[in-house]
Amino acid sequence: MNEELRELYQSVILDHSRKPRNYGELHGEGCLHVHGDNPSCGDEIDVFVKLNSDRISELTFTGQGCAISQASASMMTQKLKGRTRDEAVELAAVFRGVVTGEGRKLDKEEPLGDLTLLEGVQQFPARVKCAMLAWRALEQAVGNTPDSSVTTEE
Ligand code: ZN
Repeated sequence: MNEELRELYQSVILDHSRKPRNYGELHGEGCLHVHGDNPSCGDEIDVFVKLNSDRISELTFTGQGCAISQASASMMTQKLKGRTRDEAVELAAVFRGVVTGEGRKLDKEEPLGDLTLLEGVQQFPARVKCAMLAWRALEQAVGNTPDSSVTTEE
């Protein structure tokens, strides 16, 4: 990662962790809630999804933990709100590829936008769990076998 990109990465992470987007809870009919736990870092994320047939009409989160876990959750809600379940699951898979370094190489056209900046966590394997926590909760919420909690320890 070059210097310019590193600075951008840090400013985006800090901005989202200090001013999280779509922060809050959702309750009521059609709302799903999944609690995500990452004991290795102490991160906790609660993801709230409202589905309108197959589309994510509302997506919020609450949580506490390191800047990467909170920023990733904040960016995820912005990216996936309004998507279908299938699109959300696909984007989660692409994002997993980005942070683990096992996915395809991304270019500027990649629909993940600022989320590609989290590519930097590849160098820190413990941080991959932080970056993935909200996404795993989301996958759980919109998957075929919804469960109310998910943990990074298996
Ligand atoms: Zn963390």
